[in-house]
Order: sequence, then C-alpha cells, then structure tokens
Amino acid sequence: MSWLNSVRNVIPFVAKRETPDNLWHKCRGCGQMVFTKELEDNLNVCPKCDHHDRIGPKARFRHLLDEGSCNELPAAKVPEDPLKFRDSKRYADRLKAARANAAENDALVNARGTILGHKVVIGVQDFAFMGGSMGLAVGEAFVRGVEAAIADQCPYVIFTASGGARMQEGILSLMQMPRTTVAIQMLHDAGLPYIVVLTDPTSGGVMAAYAMLGDVQIAEPKATLAFTGRRVIENTIREKLPDDFQTSEYYLDHGMLDMVVHRHDLRERLATVIGYLTGSRKAA
Ligand SMILES: [Zn+2]
Repeated sequence: MSWLNSVRNVIPFVAKRETPDNLWHKCRGCGQMVFTKELEDNLNVCPKCDHHDRIGPKARFRHLLDEGSCNELPAAKVPEDPLKFRDSKRYADRLKAARANAAENDALVNARGTILGHKVVIGVQDFAFMGGSMGLAVGEAFVRGVEAAIADQCPYVIFTASGGARMQEGILSLMQMPRTTVAIQMLHDAGLPYIVVLTDPTSGGVMAAYAMLGDVQIAEPKATLAFTGRRVIENTIREKLPDDFQTSEYYLDHGMLDMVVHRHDLRERLATVIGYLTGSRKAA
C-alpha cells in the first residue's frame, strides 16, 4: 500500500477518488478530448468535428435495429489455429486475448432484426477484434449471415471494417475471398439484395472481396478505404497522390460508391433503400 493510501485510510473524511480511466476519449479526427459518454450518446461521432469513430457490433445493432427486434446469430464454429501459427506470440494466445478484450468470438457478428419494419440480416465487422481481419471465422460468419437472409427472404447488409486477411491463417484466410463471393451469388440467385456499408477503415483482402460487391455501395463520411496503402502506391507509380485519395468522398466522386451517408441518417437511408429494392416500400 502506498504512503498516500495509508494516510487516506486513516483519515475517514478524505473520499477515495473514483475516476474511471476511460472517462475521456481523444478524438482521432480533431485531437480534442471528448467525454466518452457524450461520444457514445452521439453514436461514436465526435460532437466537435463530426469524425466517425469506430463502433462495435453491439452498438451498431442497437442503433440500427428496431427496439426488441435484434436477435444475434450464434458464433460460427471453425477449426481454430489450423496452421499452429506462431510469430512473436502464439496465434491461439492472440485469439484468447482478443476474445477477452472484445467480448466477441471473432471479428464478424450477425443479427436478424428489422429496420423501420423491414426485415434484414446485418453483419458487423469489429475492428477492435484483431483489426477486423478476415479468417475462417469471418468467412463462415459471412456465409451464415447470407444463409439466414435467404431463409428469411430478406437483404443481407454488411458493415465492413478490416485491415484485410488474417495472416495467421495463411492461404486459408485468402480462400475466404472466393468463398464470400460465392455466398453473394447465392443471395443473388435467391433474388435478394446485398448491401455494403463501408466504415473506417476497410482495406486489403476484404476491400478486394465482399466489400466492393454490393448491389448498393454506401460509406460513412471520411472513412479510409483502400486495397493497398498510400505510401506503397506512391513509391510504385512515383507520383504524389491527392490528399483525399482513399477516402469515401474520393470514391464517390470517382463512381465507386452510390452514396456517403452520415451515421445519424443511416437507419432511415437503409430502410428507404431496402424498401426500394424489395418492393415493400411503406406508404409515407
Ligand atoms: Zn473530433
């Protein structure tokens, strides 16, 4: 026990300070300190600069789905650590730590529910879980999400956030690219829409697979979206790239996206899009 604590214990009227260490959050956009509570109440959008911070599956479901309609799909079961991979740490240990930290089984979580009355299955990638990396579990969860959408005859909406393929699973992670592509084809064969919402950051193998195959491509403002990092491209083509290169707005200007939507408007916008695509538009 420190000297200060021992003094505090013998002086009964000096209250112990109870300050949680996550009371404040430093905004990645403007660098200012924001009350965590205020940030969360604003759907993780900075109230000072409008920066869209990362948001996990639970908060995303709470925001998008109608109250009481959310029904999370069970986590996908896949062989764990198939290559017995080890770098500076064992992959099995990294998985264990990520699970304890994110309170999720892997980086993609699905839920059934309704958005303003429209039936939907939503998949949300969690960047907090090993950088949202795509391995066997993410591929399997994606396929399960699509299968649930086909069973419910409703669209599948995916929120992407990923650094790319999970290198600890080697070629098995890359195989999730064609696998998820086939799943999207299954959805199309069933006549159901596949909607992508790109969030910050989406890159690598995910960007080269299911993140760019949506019937409707939506992105959150100022998200970093890339296959390869900026520096690598600049060094290869020996040219300076524009400042807004690899942002949502750049992709929109160049015809790669249908719309950039503020997080506060996403629920309404998704409901409208789903209404148009499924022919179940509600009378206003
Ligand atoms: Zn900010």
